[in-house]
Amino acid sequence: MGYKRPVRILVVEDEPALSDQLARALAGAGYAVEAAADGERADLAVRAESYDAVVLDLGLPRIDGLTLLRGWRESGLGVPVLVLTARGSWHETVEGIDSGADDYVAKPFRMEEVLARLRGLIRRASGQPSPVLRSGDVALDPRLARVTRSGVPVKLTSHEFRVLSYLMHHRGRVVSQGELTEHIYAQDFERDSNTVEVFVARLRRKLGASIIETVRGLGYRVAP
Ligand code: CA
Repeated sequence: MGYKRPVRILVVEDEPALSDQLARALAGAGYAVEAAADGERADLAVRAESYDAVVLDLGLPRIDGLTLLRGWRESGLGVPVLVLTARGSWHETVEGIDSGADDYVAKPFRMEEVLARLRGLIRRASGQPSPVLRSGDVALDPRLARVTRSGVPVKLTSHEFRVLSYLMHHRGRVVSQGELTEHIYAQDFERDSNTVEVFVARLRRKLGASIIETVRGLGYRVAP
């Protein structure tokens, strides 16, 4: 599974000294490193280039780290992200993970820990073939958080993705509305006021009416 090309890492950190320190350590470990000092540049870079991992500070000028991360995940970008959080800030850590971070390191950190966590993250991302779930012409890649219809990528919001992902993981079974609601809001701080019916309606509009079947009085089902 080894890489022929160098492993590319994007370092997103606005503090110049820390950014340099990270870039030097990562380059020393054999990675090809690029750096972005604000959220806007980071967003452009991640959407234009293909990185093997991103080291992401949360407090950034222009666009903050959590907003960036949510945006990437909502548009289906699955690049592994290591978040740098403030030590002792458990809510930052929780929010980071909820927003789609793969791992985190608290500041101030030891460089060895950043390197170890990155190695783990890259190994996990490249080690496994991704188990793509299919129903009819719709395919869902859980690892990349990507959905396609007849091979064409379809943009879903994070809640739409969660609903579809849950139903596709339980293909062939009727899933009740209560179970779906519990699942999509399990890790949320802010509840989206939309109901499961709204997400199902939007998914049908985007993926074809037949993707989700309503089983009257019982719930929803995706065909195996
Ligand atoms: Ca910062």
